[in-house]
Amino acid sequence: MEKTEAIKLCICKSCPTYRECRERVAFCFLGRSKCIKEDHGCICGGCPVHDKANFKRYDYCLKGSEKQQK
Ligand code: SF4
Ligand code: SF4
Repeated sequence: MEKTEAIKLCICKSCPTYRECRERVAFCFLGRSKCIKEDHGCICGGCPVHDKANFKRYDYCLKGSEKQQK
């Protein structure tokens, strides 16, 4: 799974926690958001990237990328 593919497939923009502030999504690769601060649930479990990349963690926009959370 490439980062650019993840950005295309990412479903963060449909998540209740997501806030639009013109930053790139796929937080699981790119790490924390600069503007998302409040947790309203995470839908990464339903994302094809999470499954394909065999990721185990959640709340990437708040807690950091899969690598950073290890
Ligand atoms: S796993 Fe989450 S952060 Fe990563 S691409 Fe999917 S929806 Fe976005
Ligand atoms: S990383 Fe999870 S909590 Fe954050 S916006 Fe994406 S789906 Fe929502």
